[in-house]
Amino acid sequence: MRAEIISIGTELLLGQITDTNASYLASRLPEVGIDLLWVTQVGDNMGRMKECVQRALGRSDLIITTGGLGPTEDDLTREAIAETIGETLTVDPDLERELREFFSRRGYSMPQSNVKQATLIPSARAIPNPRGTAPGWWVESDGKIVVAMPGPPAEMQRMWEKEVSHRLRELIRHVILSRTIKTYMLAEAAVDEMVKEHLSSKNPTLAVYSKPDGIQLRLTSKADSREAAKEMVAGLEERVCAILGDAVWGFDGDTLESVVGGLLTETGLSLATMESCTGGLLASLITDVPGSSTYFRGGLVSYTNEVKIAYGVDAELLSEHGAVSAEVASSMARAVRSRLAVDIGVGITGVAGPDPAEGKPVGTAYIAICSGAGVRTVPGVYPPLRPEVKLRAANHALFELRRTLQSARETG
Ligand code: AMP
Ligand code: MG
Repeated sequence: MRAEIISIGTELLLGQITDTNASYLASRLPEVGIDLLWVTQVGDNMGRMKECVQRALGRSDLIITTGGLGPTEDDLTREAIAETIGETLTVDPDLERELREFFSRRGYSMPQSNVKQATLIPSARAIPNPRGTAPGWWVESDGKIVVAMPGPPAEMQRMWEKEVSHRLRELIRHVILSRTIKTYMLAEAAVDEMVKEHLSSKNPTLAVYSKPDGIQLRLTSKADSREAAKEMVAGLEERVCAILGDAVWGFDGDTLESVVGGLLTETGLSLATMESCTGGLLASLITDVPGSSTYFRGGLVSYTNEVKIAYGVDAELLSEHGAVSAEVASSMARAVRSRLAVDIGVGITGVAGPDPAEGKPVGTAYIAICSGAGVRTVPGVYPPLRPEVKLRAANHALFELRRTLQSARETG
């Protein structure tokens, strides 16, 4: 089944809201075995909306719209669908009564403009929406299905989960299953080259893409049963992981911080951080993981040299090598390890930009990990944009922490 999403609303085209409805639906459609082939955004304009619906009916089997079901003049989704398939809107008495009850339960009388939310066309059945006033539409016409859902994400998501997804699942007999392999320290082109022989595979398919926490590979299979689809993905996963080796740090919903948290829990080691250029982002990521208080003792943000010295960083190293240096990163890691009396101390120092510092270009950073095994310092070079430098440096530190923890686990 070929599906298409049309996100409706002028605010999308003005950049005032992000199309999270399309991302949500795109992530859910594979679960019901549906291939999403197009996503369109269109403003609240009758002519252009009809054009989109018309084109979608010509090339897709399932069209999902979100937005434009409100009571106001600019909410035109029902009208656009009705006109495109050539049917007339009429007020459905049951829907109108339910709508009036919805308002009276909240102590209001229904404004006349809301009556249009009780309209249907002969090919449409209403989809209940207990979270709002706009029922959805399930339209079947000429072998095509059009599902119109409200724009507010909470209403749309409930409608998808409780009303739409299972109806679609009943129509589809196969499942699509995806698995994500997450890597770090490899460039996208390098990963592409390494797994080249598998990239032309049709089922399961393999795709490579870049994320702030590394290069990811998505494996997708389509089969008659979940078990068969799982088996196909597992086979390819084994081959791909063998090629990528220890660059693979996680799968699917794993985050670097959750993987590090798992290893800290497993090894029973405690952690503390001293951050400069990341301004506490590393500590923030670490504490995104529930239960992190069992291994994370605390984080210090030592943004200026004075504070670095006050927290125990060697003043001589600072004046000799500058704040952005392997020596200072290492001193930060040692200092925080001893000050906070933990097993592992992490130091990060770097140039977040926009201007270079100490003659070092934006995106230069040093990460140091101090553990019982000594201090290990690694340089990092990141894209020279402030938020990017901060996020990449924090992720890089987590990846290096994972390395340290893995060898700690192996050596016991
Ligand atoms: P509408 O149903 O078009 O009146 O949309 C009502 C509200 O839902 C909008 O003002 C947005 O806040 C939200 N909304 C609509 N479309 C989307 C979308 N595609 N993604 C996220 N939020 C949306
Ligand atoms: Mg709207």
